[in-house]
Amino acid sequence: MNFSDSEIVASLMQDEGYEISGESKDADVVLVNTCSIRDNAEQRVRKRLRELKALKKNNPFLKIGVIGCMAERLKEQLLEEEQSVDLIVGPDAYRDLPALLDKVEEGQKAINVILSTKETYSDITPVRLDKNGVTAFISIMRGCENFCAYCVVPFTRGKERSRDVKTIIQEARDLFENGYREVTLLGQNVNSYFREDDGKQTSFYELLEQVAAVSPQLRVRFATSHPKDISDELLKAIGKHHNICNAIHLPVQSGSNNILSLMKRKYTREWYLDRIAAIRKYIPGCAISTDIIAGFCTEKDEDHRDTISLMNRVGYDYAFMFKYSERPGTIAQKKLDDDVPESVKSERLQEIIDLQQQLSHASNKRDIGKTFEVLAEGFSKKSADFLMGRNSQNKVVVFPKGNYNKGDYLNVKINDCTPATLIGTAT
Ligand code: SF4
Repeated sequence: MNFSDSEIVASLMQDEGYEISGESKDADVVLVNTCSIRDNAEQRVRKRLRELKALKKNNPFLKIGVIGCMAERLKEQLLEEEQSVDLIVGPDAYRDLPALLDKVEEGQKAINVILSTKETYSDITPVRLDKNGVTAFISIMRGCENFCAYCVVPFTRGKERSRDVKTIIQEARDLFENGYREVTLLGQNVNSYFREDDGKQTSFYELLEQVAAVSPQLRVRFATSHPKDISDELLKAIGKHHNICNAIHLPVQSGSNNILSLMKRKYTREWYLDRIAAIRKYIPGCAISTDIIAGFCTEKDEDHRDTISLMNRVGYDYAFMFKYSERPGTIAQKKLDDDVPESVKSERLQEIIDLQQQLSHASNKRDIGKTFEVLAEGFSKKSADFLMGRNSQNKVVVFPKGNYNKGDYLNVKINDCTPATLIGTAT
């Protein structure tokens, strides 16, 4: 989401005559787009700000801005704590950036952290910062109102709002005409997308089908889904269209009903497993990935065992796994004790990571001997003689380059794998 927002900010700045600089040391303005989801993310931003402060010694005209969730969360406090920062701009105030920079030029500090109930930046054509020219993000909604107990997003990104269908489809068409072959529709809670324009209602699965209809050569992905909104209609739509990718990221967070209830996730373990069964029924061969938090408030060993057993039941292809990190202002911080000792959080997280490593490797081993359609995205990291791409299941596939180029679709037979990569040859 932040990457996509940076592309919107780059577009707004370009319209004002700014150019993108390759390196911070060559820039007159550096904007740090920030995340508040974990304390660790914020500490990395603080470190980056210290590095940037050093650049001000060589370039006294350098202006440093903090944008995104950390700007929204800390507001003026950040200006007080980080003397090098000139500008603070929240996620719904990017249109105000040029005016705020003018104020900074006049020697003042500037801040706008007003959240909006309407802003979707629908009329902005993002500047594509990812240079592969094959895959791109399209932001289709902003904000979230789920108020999961541990999460800061509803406070930093405001109310949920969906972007109008017409501009989303136009953006997908423009990307396709410019050579892009894959779009990822983005939202904090993407599958609760809902829009009514001129009396016509569009829900997420209908939008997905419309984007897929832009061209059978345009792959469509989406992130991130909430388990409560994974409807049968959505799964049927994915199963029906060859170019809607067979990969669903479905954050479970915990396998324990006690913890899910404390987290205010609005589903139970049973509901979640029912949705997994529905995915397997409507989209055979669909990859399923997840997010897991280890050591949430009050988590007992039996809750942790529930998470482990759920991971085994689902057999995730991939997972993002973290220790619980208490965030100021959240429901959990106000009402629950962060009472699981750090050492226990670490132990549980390690067990989760080790298990996922095995599950990912087993999933990749099952693919040996299969042939997948792969969209080539560029050279592999290790050798210019190899290309890398992804299959519909979002797995990275590496294969000898031959006469293929990025942007090509080709069939690759898998001969080998690591826990993270499939290795094959074009057929
Ligand atoms: S669904 Fe929950 S975890 Fe996801 S952004 Fe919204 S509040 Fe945060």
